[in-house]
Amino acid sequence: MNTHDHGASIRLENCKKTFADGTLALHPLDLSVPAGETLVLLGPSGCGKTTTLRLIAGLEFPDEGGRILFDEEEVTRQSIEQRHVGMVFQSYALFPNMTVAQNVGYGLKVQKEQPTVINQRVREMLEMMELGALAHRYIDQLSGGQRQRVALARAIITRPRVLLLDEPLTALDAILRDRLRADINALLRQLGVTAIYVTHDQEEAMALGDRIVVMEQGRVSQIGTPKQIYFSPQNDFVADFIGQINTFEGPVSNRSMQLPGGVLHGAALADGHGRIYCRPEDIQLTNNASGGIRGVVHQSQFIGDRNRVWVKGASHELVIVDSDGRSEFSVGQPVGLQIRPEQLIVLDAQSERA
Ligand code: ADP
Ligand code: MG
Repeated sequence: MNTHDHGASIRLENCKKTFADGTLALHPLDLSVPAGETLVLLGPSGCGKTTTLRLIAGLEFPDEGGRILFDEEEVTRQSIEQRHVGMVFQSYALFPNMTVAQNVGYGLKVQKEQPTVINQRVREMLEMMELGALAHRYIDQLSGGQRQRVALARAIITRPRVLLLDEPLTALDAILRDRLRADINALLRQLGVTAIYVTHDQEEAMALGDRIVVMEQGRVSQIGTPKQIYFSPQNDFVADFIGQINTFEGPVSNRSMQLPGGVLHGAALADGHGRIYCRPEDIQLTNNASGGIRGVVHQSQFIGDRNRVWVKGASHELVIVDSDGRSEFSVGQPVGLQIRPEQLIVLDAQSERA
């Protein structure tokens, strides 16, 4: 039997993808995924996430010159069956004329396992995925979340070296999504499988990914851990795409940026460099509007764990500040903004694409 204790490492070399109609979906891509890692492909619709996943699966093939390796073995021209990968899609792609148990056992049947072995492994898998009670139901008798559990169980029962998930939670409602996300997270750690997880949802990406690949129009915009992506975006696209962020723009001289509401100091500010970023949670609001940057509360929203406050006049645009949920700021109130210099995100000019 073709089993592996751990996932396979994956390497893409120079993988470009042009479709038959001439669409260039992927610019030449190099990507290394160590065994056991969960790598998330994140980006807006149409940026090439699914295409990348399908290349890894063996459902598409790269243009001439591209190579794909699993554990240093070239699989570029191998089919999906030969690569021994598991896949889960947004649409469940389950067999409607089979029961839950039959769906889950399908891969083992294809591998010509003994019926007693199949029954045993299916039972274990259903147990593990909390699907035991549904074993004899048909797919149309299940909820969306249950279907996606079945799809997951079906994908992992053959113990694939690589698990590929394409927006598996997108069709589910928010509560179910959170729950299943936590389950998938635990499952991936437990299995030790190498997983490539595609999503356009940044929260999902940060919760699940060991590393995140942010993609933009068929190219990699940045690769990094969730914290690197969030706290040290390398370019405007990543800064704007991930989370809420404030942009400050203005002329810089003597490490100070002139803003409508005052002066922003920062050792990292280089003369002439006119754009920096700051996360809403990295700004402190004070009642004392003297000194520093001044503004007026334009709007305030209580979101439970925090107050989100929009401040006018401190910059060219409204500045978004997240403050403690118990703080009180009323519309029209003058406020001061305190930003510690180390909390400013200054893009490295060299890593910023033209
Ligand atoms: P994502 O999954 O990030 O939304 P895709 O990888 O599906 O993006 O698509 C990337 C680009 O390739 C898009 O412009 C899409 O329209 C195009 N594309 C995808 N599949 C095909 C295909 N079979 N033929 C032609 N163009 C395609
Ligand atoms: Mg897609």
